[in-house]
Amino acid sequence: MSTNYYAYTVVGIKFAKNEIYRSEKARLCKHPLPEDKNAKFCPVCGQKLWQTIEESIPEYDDMTEQLAGVPAVWDTDQRHLFVGVVTKTEDSGKNDIELPLIKDMVKRPLELKGLWHEKRFAIWTVLYCSY
Ligand SMILES: [Zn+2]
Repeated sequence: MSTNYYAYTVVGIKFAKNEIYRSEKARLCKHPLPEDKNAKFCPVCGQKLWQTIEESIPEYDDMTEQLAGVPAVWDTDQRHLFVGVVTKTEDSGKNDIELPLIKDMVKRPLELKGLWHEKRFAIWTVLYCSY
């Protein structure tokens, strides 16, 4: 395995991970909860009663890495998601797009889903390290 480093420039919006992924407690089996409130395991099948699962909000597609259809990149360790017009280190030729046009491209789909944050729209530099 090799380590890859990328730098992205994103004209768009920064989201914290907990805005994209929500932690939820979920049951592992369908047996009724035991009367003992402190019980950690199911008395019928022995599985843990509760497990914390992370579920993304429906607007985020982790297969295509898009939020409401807008391209996105995570920083290292998936702390923040940057959503907008993304330029990767080795890309070139995206310098002919006007900033107001970019803003419109990012704003429209996000605003429809209630995910637009005017004050967070900026030019972000994102460092990513795969390891
Ligand atoms: Zn069970």
